[in-house]
Amino acid sequence: MKTDVFALRHIGPREAHCNEMLQVVGATSIEALISETVPDNIRLQSPLNLEAPLSEQEYLEHIHQLASKNKVFKSYIGMGYYPSNLPAVIQRNILENPGWYTAYTPYQAEIAQGRLEALLNYQTMISDLTGMELANASLLDESTAAAEAMALLFAVRPKPQAKAGTVKFFVSDEVLPQTLSVLKTRATPIGIELVLGAVDDFDFSSEFFGALLQYPGKSGVIMELQPFISKANENDIKVAVAADILSLVALEAPGKFGADVVVGTTQRFGIPMGYGGPHAAYFATKEAYKRFIPGRIIGVTKDMDGNRAMRMALQTREQHIKRDRATSNICTAQVLLAVMAGMYAVYHGPKGLKYIANKVHNTATTLADALENLEFNLVHNSFFDTIQVRIPENIDLKTKAEQKEVNFYYPDATTVSISINETTTLSDLNLILSIFAEVYSKETTQIETLSSNIRIPEAAQRHSDFMTNVIFNSHHSETELMRYIKRLERKDLSLNFSMISLGSCTMKLNAAVEMLPLSWPNWGNIHPFAPLNQVEGYRTMLAKLEEQLTEITGFAGTSLQPNSGAQGEFAGLMVIRAYHKSRGDAHRKICIIPSSAHGTNPASAVMAGMKVVVTKSSENGNIDVEDLREKATLHKDNLAALMVTYPSTHGVYESAIKEITQIIHDNGGQVYMDGANMNAQVGLTNPGNIGADVCHLNLHKTFAIPHGGGGPGVGPICVAKQLTPFLPGNPLIETGGTDAIDSISGAPFGSSLACLISYGYIKMLGAKGLTDSTEIAILNANYIKERLQGHYDTLYSGERGRAAHEMIIDCRDFKANGIEVVDIAKRLMDFGFHAPTVSFPVAGTMMIEPTESEGKAEMDRFCDAMIAIRKEIEAASKDQPNNPLKNAPHTQEMLTKDVWEFPYSRAVAAFPLNYIKEDKFWPSVRRVDDAYGDRNLICTCAPIEAYEEA
Ligand SMILES: *Cc1c(COP(=O)(O)O)cnc(C)c1O
Repeated sequence: MKTDVFALRHIGPREAHCNEMLQVVGATSIEALISETVPDNIRLQSPLNLEAPLSEQEYLEHIHQLASKNKVFKSYIGMGYYPSNLPAVIQRNILENPGWYTAYTPYQAEIAQGRLEALLNYQTMISDLTGMELANASLLDESTAAAEAMALLFAVRPKPQAKAGTVKFFVSDEVLPQTLSVLKTRATPIGIELVLGAVDDFDFSSEFFGALLQYPGKSGVIMELQPFISKANENDIKVAVAADILSLVALEAPGKFGADVVVGTTQRFGIPMGYGGPHAAYFATKEAYKRFIPGRIIGVTKDMDGNRAMRMALQTREQHIKRDRATSNICTAQVLLAVMAGMYAVYHGPKGLKYIANKVHNTATTLADALENLEFNLVHNSFFDTIQVRIPENIDLKTKAEQKEVNFYYPDATTVSISINETTTLSDLNLILSIFAEVYSKETTQIETLSSNIRIPEAAQRHSDFMTNVIFNSHHSETELMRYIKRLERKDLSLNFSMISLGSCTMKLNAAVEMLPLSWPNWGNIHPFAPLNQVEGYRTMLAKLEEQLTEITGFAGTSLQPNSGAQGEFAGLMVIRAYHKSRGDAHRKICIIPSSAHGTNPASAVMAGMKVVVTKSSENGNIDVEDLREKATLHKDNLAALMVTYPSTHGVYESAIKEITQIIHDNGGQVYMDGANMNAQVGLTNPGNIGADVCHLNLHKTFAIPHGGGGPGVGPICVAKQLTPFLPGNPLIETGGTDAIDSISGAPFGSSLACLISYGYIKMLGAKGLTDSTEIAILNANYIKERLQGHYDTLYSGERGRAAHEMIIDCRDFKANGIEVVDIAKRLMDFGFHAPTVSFPVAGTMMIEPTESEGKAEMDRFCDAMIAIRKEIEAASKDQPNNPLKNAPHTQEMLTKDVWEFPYSRAVAAFPLNYIKEDKFWPSVRRVDDAYGDRNLICTCAPIEAYEEA
């Protein structure tokens, strides 16, 4: 047998185990199980048409070769992306460490205190640098964050403004072009009118509810915020500022001037450019808007014993609740990147950041002086890091610069823009000068030292303190930081400890070989707006990935731009909207969504300007076809789309799916398939085959990108032929359809660097490995279903009694014994497991999805744990709430107390099954008190006294 086959490493169960499991589930073969599970009428007739799979070694050689086709030039392009130095200690201990990158979103706070603390550091850093009261734990990119700021200001308009129909939003002409494009996408469907102009010409008329400024502007100019914001506030116009994070070290915080929202990216805090992403965007605002903040906020609270503990605060714990009343659809964000940027701040501290910012500024000043000495004129005399230089029209600077492997940015024929960054050295400066001297035939001398002139206007210079907290002033040696990172890591349960069987989230293996290339400079150090002839490796990889995904989904085209599944939903619906509009059907705005849908579905539909009509589920968990037909017919003149998850969020392949898609088409609508459950389809069926028109894929679920503790995500959309013309574009790099909608993300291909992971996944598995993965995922789910039989009721199953790739167990009856589903979730921690998905899509249930990567032994341990817990539930009683379930999780601290006052033994508390003795995971806090923290909102690492007072 060939053993250098990647599929053997990716798929958990060995052949002998598969046979044992098949026996347990009562199927004669995998093929038999699959045909009992997946309806015949939707099965693919032929295998996927993909290239032959590569072994790990072959893949590394292949991807290395592709990498060599990317040219790493010195990048002075700026425009929101900068080279930066990723400290090796962060690269090795976070980016390259499965303890960090395989973690899930910290819903189970007791086993997530490490990343929660890292994110709290991030929020504190953002609050401090921006001068705002509250910051969230990241957004997808700067452009999306700006659009979220606009949406927030629109949502919080004062009543008189809303009554008067005030819809205008002013956008400074200094705002980055990719941000403007994302703003347009977001503004149009909800009726916001963008007005682009120079800040000096703005008349502050009452027709505006808000404004967006860029600080410093794209031309490098540093505008005076104070007068603008004061005047705006006098006229009830709220102001958002998109600010460069490094510049805020040297420039006074926008919050000090009264900004309402401050957004930006933290990419230049040690995150590789990666041809556009992933990077963590930040979002900071006033406490007054806390209920409207998009994404997740980490807050401090206490646990059952009164110890300090962190968890996701406010509405951000449960993003499904708001559904179509949500003002944002953010679910997956950029946690891993936020953790890294936060650690960069911890490592450098305020002094280190000042050193870096000053060096960048001094380098820019030195260059400006030297160019002025050569009689060049600058567009702006003051700046932070970006200088624009007037150049004669007919002399070719660009070619010469590129010969010297230098990229500048050329906003027009007579201007060159040069953005200095953390990595720029004296010899880089001299190279830039020598290029100018050569092209324009001037004499220049070597620069030996940096100037210390400051070219930041007096009024804009920073005087306020930042990052005074002890956390930013302690870990400045590598030993200290390494241990701090390890200390946090040990508090978190990740895939390198045990199975995380989260239904709908597909926590499968993130293979090391898929991750390796992310650390290579030829993938990391590439600017998204670099000239095309320098990025052949990226373009080949991305085009191939699009092709692979198009084939897998059975569609005609793919856009990799959306940075999460929810952004994919928004993108797909916007494409549908454009399609209807192109046919004179702009009035088609009804979007039918089943009641069982993920909360992001209705939220995205509302963002796309659609009206949500909810359709029921039948008793067996399927879409109620007759109810759907009725609603589709009723709305046939205005029907835009159906959003449907397949297999359903109930974990069932509905055989009526083709009928369902036909009903929608017959009534003039398009079918949007939520592809979160694609792990149950790949190679067996596909969205094209079931009659959908567009789907998103969560590459961070089905296609092996790690969850990173809640991001990065990649949410490409794949579309049928009629929708391809509308795939999203980019204002600077040509991409998307012939009639492209505006951008969904700032970068032309979204998070290109993360796309490498999915590319490798598909390349190494090939058609057979992918299909085998789907089949084993189904086998594994059915095995767990069978093993839990008699202990837990499975809520729904297919026509022949089979689960799909996930299954729901009903825990609602345990209420009679005083046990809630969260008690089971917390008790699982004592057994070393992360809970399955809790209360989605049905309250009081758990949804279990093991994925193909888990082997039989691990699933057996999990089932043993669940069965042991079931016995504890049996023994529990409403009148005796002092039991191991209600008290879970149990910490080392409580176990080792001299007094033990519980009616069960310490061994039952901590070692309820034998396997746990060998490898115990200790939750670092006891059950956290969510409500307490919401009443006493603290979202920064305030000094310890603050908690005591609260
Ligand atoms: C995960 C998920 C989403 C949202 O995807 P994100 O990448 O988190 O934005 C949407 N629908 C379903 C069914 C999901 O499971």
